[in-house]
Amino acid sequence: MKFRPLTASEIDCRVSTINEKGLTLLLYKDARVDMNILDETFGVTGWQRKHEIIGGNLYCTVSIWDAEKKQWISKQDVGVESYTEKEKGQASDSFKRACFNIGIGRELYTAPFIWIGADKFRLTQKNNKYTTYDKFMVSSIEIQDGAITDLAIVNERTGVIAYKMRANGQKLAENEPKAKSNEIICRNCKKPIQGNIGNNGVSYSPREIYNMTKGLCTDCYKQFKAMNGGKQ
Ligand SMILES: [Zn+2]
Repeated sequence: MKFRPLTASEIDCRVSTINEKGLTLLLYKDARVDMNILDETFGVTGWQRKHEIIGGNLYCTVSIWDAEKKQWISKQDVGVESYTEKEKGQASDSFKRACFNIGIGRELYTAPFIWIGADKFRLTQKNNKYTTYDKFMVSSIEIQDGAITDLAIVNERTGVIAYKMRANGQKLAENEPKAKSNEIICRNCKKPIQGNIGNNGVSYSPREIYNMTKGLCTDCYKQFKAMNGGKQ
C-alpha cells in the first residue's frame, strides 16, 4: 500500500529530552491525519477501524476494502497494555500504530536526530528541572522514496528556525552512498553505524550501539555527550 507523504502541518513536534544545553525533539502524527489520509486514499466507506480487548490489551484493527479481490485487508496493533476503563482516551494510540503498520507516516521513522541548542528557545526551570513552554513546528519537509531528505523546524514563539537538517539546503549528491538494507544508519550523520569495542573490552554490534545511543553512531554519540556535559 502506498500513501502520500505527510505535509509539514500534519507533523507534531514534541520535546523528548531537555537540559541546560538544549533539547531533542521527536516527530509525531495525530490520529486525525491518519483518518484524513485513509479517507483521501480509499474513500470514507473504503476503510474501517475496530477496537477490541484481547487478554486485557486494547487492539485496533484497520481494514481496507480491496475492490479487485472483493475482500477486506486488515492490519492490527496493540495500543495500551493492561487496558482499563480510564485509558479509553488512548484508543487512538492503537489506531495510530495500526496506521503506521499499513504505511501511513512511515517516513517519520527516518527522522534525523533533532537537537536544538538552548540559545534557540526559552529555557525555564521548574522544581529543579528544566523545561520550556516554547512550541516547535515543522516549517518545511522534503520526503523522497519514503525517507525525509530535508527538514526545518521553527520556534513558534520567536518565528526563528531552530533546526535545519541540511545547513546549506543542499540535496543528497548523486554519488552519496545510499544505505544498504542491512546497514544501521546513524540518525545524525546518516553514515552506517560500525561495531565497536568498548572500554571494558566487550565488543558491540551496530544494532547494540544503535539501541544504547538511541540511534547514533559512536562519533555522534560522543559529540552529543560532550554537548550535554557528559550526561545523556
Ligand atoms: Zn553519526
